Amino acid sequence: MSNDISPTLLRVIIKDFKRYCNSSRRLLDIMKKIEKGTATQSDMYDYAAKIGECLSKAYKKHLTSKTLPNGRMYWNIAKSVVGPTLTNNYTLVNNTAIQIQKLINESNNIGINPLKSTLNTDRVDGFMNKMANADNFDDVAYLLNEPIVNFTLSVVDDFIRENAKFHYDSGLKTQIIRISAHKCCKWCSKLAGTYDYEQVSNKGNDVFRRHENCRCTVLFKSDKYMQNVHSKKEYSKDELKELVKTHQLNYKKSTKIKTHLPKNVEDITSYYLNELKLGKGNVIIEKGVDIKSHQDEINTAKWLKEKFGGEIKILAEQTIEGAVTPDFLWNGIPLELKTMNSIKSIDKRLRKACKQVAYYNSNKIGGYIIIDVTNLKEDDEIIINEIAKRLSDRAKCPIDLIIKRRNNLLKVFSYRKKV
Ligand SMILES: [Zn+2]
Repeated sequence: MSNDISPTLLRVIIKDFKRYCNSSRRLLDIMKKIEKGTATQSDMYDYAAKIGECLSKAYKKHLTSKTLPNGRMYWNIAKSVVGPTLTNNYTLVNNTAIQIQKLINESNNIGINPLKSTLNTDRVDGFMNKMANADNFDDVAYLLNEPIVNFTLSVVDDFIRENAKFHYDSGLKTQIIRISAHKCCKWCSKLAGTYDYEQVSNKGNDVFRRHENCRCTVLFKSDKYMQNVHSKKEYSKDELKELVKTHQLNYKKSTKIKTHLPKNVEDITSYYLNELKLGKGNVIIEKGVDIKSHQDEINTAKWLKEKFGGEIKILAEQTIEGAVTPDFLWNGIPLELKTMNSIKSIDKRLRKACKQVAYYNSNKIGGYIIIDVTNLKEDDEIIINEIAKRLSDRAKCPIDLIIKRRNNLLKVFSYRKKV
């Protein structure tokens, strides 16, 4: 089209949208609450509803069968006017939701940064297609009303769902709370309530759904204090048998490895495997642990619990200068986790771990080291022998050292000084 009206339409819609937003008392109140640090997840919905209404109003003013060429919303107009403005609502809602969630996390001592929700491009495309397919725009003008608000609210729904999942996956006890708007409908009244995240975690669960004109809200909260990392339900006997079999099979592969055991080092892998207490126990994250930057530790703790059970506490780093804390306590005994990035760094990293364990060993209980060799390219045999040798050189107190690659246990060595 030589005379493309899209740029003009886009400009006036944005201009009016901004004007409506700026004159909204409700939006101003929400901004003030954010500044004061008192905003809540309900404010995310109020914000979304309001800017949804503002966009709807601006659309209705400028998009009519009279303003559109031949009374039609051609595809190129939909794509250059509706697409960017809907996406803009998505961005604004996300920015605000992130600001609010950050405040909530901070006040609960949860060291997680909020995630931006994913843009539901199917829905945006759906709008544009429906508009472009109508011979006369009046037939689809209803889309500019409630559906725009509904779409904007659904951005918050997605934000809540995705962030709740993130909190849950990070090991926090997470609950979903659906609040029914006054006299919404029977379906919504039935859905209202508080759910543990795992009850509603399946994709597309009704709890996260919103029908037309629905103003119900879905919130989540996660616990601030020490929490158990969620684990699978208790294994059934058959599952347990199967798991032990897999473990032992995996291990059989590693028994083919020829080890040259240096002084004071013993291979105690089979002892550990006989002591398997699959999944029995807890992973506890101490208050103050920054969950986002400790994903490796959390995953390793979960792995350890799944394999050997017991209580694993992930400790917050000491902020007092000079004070050192172990990464974990496993049944009360210090544990250091070291991830190896090159075979050359093994000696240095292991030496440090041994030093740390010896430092905690003032109570003479020794300690554990887990070495993760997932990132190393060398053969298991080379790595394992290198570690055994270095352990013998560097250990200063009793140590059980566990070597893992991805989720597989490679070896467990013990260091005990023979007298
Ligand atoms: Zn509802």
